[in-house]
Amino acid sequence: MKEMLQRTVEKIKEHNYCIGCGMCETFCPVSAITINFSHEKGQFLPLINYSRCTKCGICLAVCPGDDLNHPVLHQSVHQKQPEDPFIGSYLQIYKGFSKNEEYRKSGASGGFVTQFLANLLESKAVDAVLVCAMEDGNIHEPHSYLVKRVEDLGRYQRSVYTNVHWAKVIDEVRTEKLRTAIVGLPCHIHSLVKAIALKPELREYFRFTIGLFCGGTYNFNAISKTLSDMKISDIDVARIDFRWGQWPGKLRILQKNGVEHLTKRGHHFRTNYLSRCYFCFDFLADLADVSVGDNWMKGNKSAENVIIVRKKKVLNYLENLELEEISAEDIHVSHKLKSNPHRFSEANCKVGNFFSRQAPNIIPYSGIKPKAKHYFSALLEYYQFSLGDSSDEYKRAFLKFKDIYFHFVMGRESRPKK
Ligand SMILES: Cc1cc2nc3c(=O)[nH]c(=O)nc-3n(C[C@H](O)[C@H](O)[C@H](O)COP(=O)(O)OP(=O)(O)OC[C@H]3O[C@@H](n4cnc5c(N)ncnc54)[C@H](O)[C@@H]3O)c2cc1C
Ligand code: SF4
Ligand code: SF4
Ligand code: SF4
Repeated sequence: MKEMLQRTVEKIKEHNYCIGCGMCETFCPVSAITINFSHEKGQFLPLINYSRCTKCGICLAVCPGDDLNHPVLHQSVHQKQPEDPFIGSYLQIYKGFSKNEEYRKSGASGGFVTQFLANLLESKAVDAVLVCAMEDGNIHEPHSYLVKRVEDLGRYQRSVYTNVHWAKVIDEVRTEKLRTAIVGLPCHIHSLVKAIALKPELREYFRFTIGLFCGGTYNFNAISKTLSDMKISDIDVARIDFRWGQWPGKLRILQKNGVEHLTKRGHHFRTNYLSRCYFCFDFLADLADVSVGDNWMKGNKSAENVIIVRKKKVLNYLENLELEEISAEDIHVSHKLKSNPHRFSEANCKVGNFFSRQAPNIIPYSGIKPKAKHYFSALLEYYQFSLGDSSDEYKRAFLKFKDIYFHFVMGRESRPKK
């Protein structure tokens, strides 16, 4: 068992670093791994068939849960160190939205991602795009899909705030040798970059990476507990949408009998994050070709994106978009980067280690040193991430205290509040 812990993703499971991306299943050369949904943990996890495993270590090598040397990863993708250690490398920064009213209306923010994918497909820069969506009638399993026709893209808009596994679609990309654009969270892109380091021929297939800014993803207990409080049974739910209606949107629960509930993502969401997210360093998908988030700039009340273009090739596919250039400082202010727990994850890792929760091996960019206030916020976050079974009253009281601390000391909203 000790060897399995050192050589395989058993280690990732053991330490709770798994984000359920499925890359270990995809790349295991002897098909010894399957990703299953764990009802106990409320997330996807790998299951290893020990009788097949040759202990080759490939699953660990492609896993985004551990061993992330960000200066080295950044260098391998952008061939330089970041101009701005809080933003990563960039060529242009914009705010804007899709001129296609449907894409904008149905988008998580301003529909930039879907418009950009449409531009890539229409100009035949790629054969397929990798997207995901919550499934009707299956609230526990978002699925990933390869879309090859522009007219099908609209079905896959909006944000899925749980993690999504890629195993089957990545297999399809490789078997069919498709030139693909992928949309993913920063950790999805970490795993892809690690896989390309191991198998450089994959570069041929993965032509564009579109990274979403990411404050964290929920495990499925957030949904189950919320439904239970509302006295709604899982099997009566037709569909969950995390952001529905006017931007920035509300949680929508649509029952099979047609009754619709629009509500806030309450305390169950804030205390049921994937455990690995606590340690995460990458908020703005630094390794993507283009990174996309919400426009939280002061005064903005409409569905808009902010967009960080990191690679020159992206600039060729910006048609049908209303874009206005903004500065790095604008993103610093709107996303309060200098007090964001992600970039100070060194503090989170130290706090984790102190409380004997072995932290993953994450090496940050040089030049970012946490101060006392970051350590205290890391302590509060650590506590929040371990509140799963506490009483609702206690959780609410703690979250109120944390919000006050973040408001007055960190000068920003407490994570997670999207
Ligand atoms: C978990 C999560 C956390 C986020 N946190 C922040 C934040 O803290 N701050 C911020 O500014 N922005 C955040 N975003 C990004 C923001 O919510 C929008 O996704 C982004 O602005 C793109 O909006 P759009 O209208 O251009 O996308 P749309 O046109 O609606 O397209 C959305 C695309 O994202 C893909 N997608 C959705 N969910 C996932 C997922 N879980 N994994 C992989 N692909 C997915 C869809 O397949 C689709 O292609 C987050 C997004 C997610 C999914
Ligand atoms: S065979 Fe290799 S990739 Fe597959 S589970 Fe074992 S160590 Fe991991
Ligand atoms: S994070 Fe991804 S690659 Fe790592 S163990 Fe989990 S599913 Fe496998
Ligand atoms: S916070 Fe980091 S680890 Fe968690 S889902 Fe987002 S990118 Fe992945």
